[in-house]
Amino acid sequence: MDYYELLGVTRTSNADEIKSAYRKLALKYHPDRNKEEGAHEKFAQISEAYSVLSDAEKRAHYDRFGSAPGANMPGGDPFGGMGGAGFDPMDIFEQLFGGMAGGRGRRGPARGDDLETEVQVTLLQARAGEEVEVVVDRLTECEHCHGSKTEPGGKPPKTCATCGGAGAVRAQARTIFGVVETQQACPTCRGEGQIIQDPCTVCKGRGRTLKAEKVGVKLPRGIDEGYRIRVSGMGNEGPGGSGDLYVHIEMEPHPALRREQEHLIYPARIGFAKAALGGQITVPTLDGEQAVEVKAGTQYGELHRLTGQGMPRLQGRGSGDLIVEYDVIVPKPKDLTPEAREALLAYARAVGDEVNEKHEGFFDKVGKIFRGD
Ligand SMILES: [Zn+2]
Ligand SMILES: [Zn+2]
Repeated sequence: MDYYELLGVTRTSNADEIKSAYRKLALKYHPDRNKEEGAHEKFAQISEAYSVLSDAEKRAHYDRFGSAPGANMPGGDPFGGMGGAGFDPMDIFEQLFGGMAGGRGRRGPARGDDLETEVQVTLLQARAGEEVEVVVDRLTECEHCHGSKTEPGGKPPKTCATCGGAGAVRAQARTIFGVVETQQACPTCRGEGQIIQDPCTVCKGRGRTLKAEKVGVKLPRGIDEGYRIRVSGMGNEGPGGSGDLYVHIEMEPHPALRREQEHLIYPARIGFAKAALGGQITVPTLDGEQAVEVKAGTQYGELHRLTGQGMPRLQGRGSGDLIVEYDVIVPKPKDLTPEAREALLAYARAVGDEVNEKHEGFFDKVGKIFRGD
């Protein structure tokens, strides 16, 4: 196993690439998020790899000698305890992520989990930047025991004998880097520091119950499909505070308009006579129907812009356009009345366009078969 391999980067990857690779892996294997077996060791390993590769001097040493500085150096370690007893992967994680790790063990109780949900919004809601409502099932403080986990009037909780109430124990993890000492949640009390003797009958001693809650989500003007909005503190409640709620935005399809980023497209089907001679169409804008002049000689695929009548630009100022995209319709034989056909033939003769003068409908074909020609 190689530090570069551990992080899924190459020897030529730059500092940013290494940082971003570590970020992804650290979030995936962080002990607060990943309870799978081996995740903790993996987290320690990638943190170790990152602590070396993120430091130019240590990285150069590693590239040259294939080991972390001081790793196989008896007695002396010029860089300060890499892979030794003082190494704590949480420190690396905290350095990169700041306070967002939520902390555990000696850093205080864990924050509640983040939650995710989605909401469908209309073009009008997105344009106005309205507040929409979502209903989310989140863990909140039990109303019966007020989060104490103990049945009101029951026996009080007792201090955990394993950790003496600290909630954390020090553990040694044997990794390929040697023995790594880490602080882990106490297995007896699961980090609580105390044992509940008389669990609350409503939350079964969990201190929290699942509650459907309405949450108002303010949409940024011009929000689009694929974005997510963070509502701070509306995730699950935890002993160290609430997680966040992430709301994924889905756009409700509009019956007539198609959205392309800040622009709205209206596909307008017009007959070829109107395309040739000009006229008027009605465009369903977001502010209601609007008459639009079709200029004489409009071609298939031609665009007409209603400036500023699209969606607000999410980044930057102003709004996009509403773009009328012309589709010129050529009538099918079945759609031509005898009068319309006659008029069309007259037009063809006038411009010298050689066309089929005879109308070949279904009964003509049947006649042909009977005549045998
Ligand atoms: Zn309760
Ligand atoms: Zn304990």
